[in-house]
Amino acid sequence: MTYIERNLTDLLSSIHETVKLVAVSKIKPVEVIMEAYNAGHKVFGENRVQEIAEKEQALPKDIEWHFIGHLQTNKVKYIAGFVSMIHSVDSLKLLTVIDKEAGRHNRIIPCLFEMHIAEEDTKYGLSLQEIRDILENPVFGKLHNIRISGLMGMATFTDNETRIRREFRYLKECFNILKKEYFSGLEGFSEASMGMSGDYRIALEEGSTIVRIGSLIFGERDN
Ligand SMILES: *Cc1c(COP(=O)(O)O)cnc(C)c1O
Repeated sequence: MTYIERNLTDLLSSIHETVKLVAVSKIKPVEVIMEAYNAGHKVFGENRVQEIAEKEQALPKDIEWHFIGHLQTNKVKYIAGFVSMIHSVDSLKLLTVIDKEAGRHNRIIPCLFEMHIAEEDTKYGLSLQEIRDILENPVFGKLHNIRISGLMGMATFTDNETRIRREFRYLKECFNILKKEYFSGLEGFSEASMGMSGDYRIALEEGSTIVRIGSLIFGERDN
């Protein structure tokens, strides 16, 4: 068994089978991604447009690509043809552009609203009220090539488990509130994308449905 194969096996054995594991392959070369692919893993996450587009070109077509980084409206066109989910929607403007570009490809792109749950104010993301404002905007009602599938959030980078847990719990609470207020009886609003290498166990205990894990699979990055 290779290093990556062993890491994937260990990780998958600690995650319930209904939870999706996005292997975050940013910075890692295509050869390394192929190692995970050959071990049977087909869901990868990237945070840069140019990088995900180049890797999509170079790698097998049955890979499910998740975009997890900050997304500029002028770059949506480079990923709209293939991306399986965009985790980082933080404005109605961006959502409108994703809708337009998805339409050009005759696709419906599943999207998550990125929520600001961490203490640091450096992280991107929306508040609960800002998400409500988007969902109630008449412009939102006219978008047919996106689907709102849930929420994504990153906890504060800290050793304080209590704080991390509180932040994930808040994200899940917001998820439940929005589901009740706007998606009641509808299918599709079902994902809480939370948990990275350092905090995924806490995230799972708090009801995560998608974990985004890089260094625990591929080793530490040099950045
Ligand atoms: C890099 C990154 C991850 C994975 O981080 P690890 O600590 O390596 O698991 C998850 N989510 C986002 C948004 C990232 O940018």
